[in-house]
Amino acid sequence: MTTYALYIGHMSSFQIQQANLDALCRQFNIPPVIQVDPASLREHFPPVPLQADEAYIVLLGPELKSPVKVARNVLAILPDVSLFFLVKFKTSELMLSLQSPVSALGANWELLELEAPGFHAALTRSFTAAIRKRKFRTTLTGLNRKLQRNTKPKVSELQRYSVSLHYLDHIVEHAYDGIIATTNDGLIVKWNRAASDMLQVDAETAIGCSVFTLLQHGWEQQLRQFYAELADADNQSCQQEICLSAEGDRNRFLELSLSLIRDHQHNRIGVAVFIRDITERKVTEKVLEAMRKDLERMSFEDGLTGIANRRMFDKTLDQEWFRMQRHGLPLSLVLIDVDHFKFFNDHYGHQAGDDCLKQVARALQQQIARSSDLVARYGGEEFVILLPETNADDAFHLALNCSAAVRELSIPHAKSSVAECITISGGVFSIVPSNKTNPEYMLQQADALLYQAKKSGRDQMLTDAE
Ligand code: GH3
Ligand code: MG
Ligand code: MG
Repeated sequence: MTTYALYIGHMSSFQIQQANLDALCRQFNIPPVIQVDPASLREHFPPVPLQADEAYIVLLGPELKSPVKVARNVLAILPDVSLFFLVKFKTSELMLSLQSPVSALGANWELLELEAPGFHAALTRSFTAAIRKRKFRTTLTGLNRKLQRNTKPKVSELQRYSVSLHYLDHIVEHAYDGIIATTNDGLIVKWNRAASDMLQVDAETAIGCSVFTLLQHGWEQQLRQFYAELADADNQSCQQEICLSAEGDRNRFLELSLSLIRDHQHNRIGVAVFIRDITERKVTEKVLEAMRKDLERMSFEDGLTGIANRRMFDKTLDQEWFRMQRHGLPLSLVLIDVDHFKFFNDHYGHQAGDDCLKQVARALQQQIARSSDLVARYGGEEFVILLPETNADDAFHLALNCSAAVRELSIPHAKSSVAECITISGGVFSIVPSNKTNPEYMLQQADALLYQAKKSGRDQMLTDAE
């Protein structure tokens, strides 16, 4: 917002006033006076680009032949300016023309006589008044504009608000979730399309009914409890998953979320009920959980025989070692190896070898009775049986049973040097675990006994307890 002072007149007459005028401009912090030659008035006026919030003071030089005409031209471009006619002296003719309604100059002009005593003082006074007036007007315009700006958002806000009701209604109607709004005591006031689809009740039927009686599937009690919870001052919302009775051959799962609706004064005016169909999510969760369990089982299971694998055995051995150590109880281990299995494989083929291992595994598995006992495939044709809370005698007894059970399988083995059927050998080792030893020691001992059993004829169980 700037005030510009223009001098329309020749440079020679302007220069006489320039110093005085520029001093005034400096005083009021506006740009220096711009001189405009009357000859170039048509092409170059106004000399500074016209801005909506700029004010102009125009001084008309004494040499102008038709100052009133020039002033009119100026007013045609700048309708609201302060005009100063600088004349040598007043003439009645000039005064008449200035005051004539035909000249259409309005009241915003002043005539200053150059020859009159006190001209400079009069110019200073009038110029100062004009600048102040312009500045004041500029400030007013600014304020006015500011006011307009401040009121505008309010108006558009109101417009937005009125429009937003439609927006909201559309959003609610077309939401994927079921949305129900009720009064505080459960009277339905809003029921969107998704709610109709999910609950098979149309909006017309639903609106005006009690949400407790309308919703089937035994939700009533649950809903009443939720509403009661929301009545508690601290509760703003609550959530619950609900399984609907089987629909065809599959259950349907819905997630119910309730939250309080409040008005501007924060009063509770109702309850919003959101219903989300989470059946797909539930089915996926179930499948994933089953897969996770399968994976876990597979990671501890031997692929060929279906019994525990080496990983499971190592883990269980560590656990049972420390458990038995804590309780001061014996832990026994039977390390078993199929006799002359290489010959069996070579003679009957790898597939027959696999089948044999499966049968042996099953036979061994059948010998254990306690849930804490574990039969595992240790590797190749080697098996291991871990027997917590079992002393050497009992372990040896079980090992002999295993031997007998494998023999009873009567799997022919034409190439065995010990029998006509598949047999096993084993090392049985028992210990009460302590800090002095460790699980590896136990395995080494059982392996050494197994080695002994092999060396001394196979088809036998050896124990160090004998
Ligand atoms: P020993 O009585 O001294 O134990 O003799 P062995 O022939 O049983 O022992 P050896 O260690 O020489 O051979 C073990 C054989 O077991 C060799 C391998 O082909 C076979 N074997 C190991 N794992 C499997 C398996 O998963 N399937 C089959 N079919 N054979 C296996
Ligand atoms: Mg072996
Ligand atoms: Mg073997």
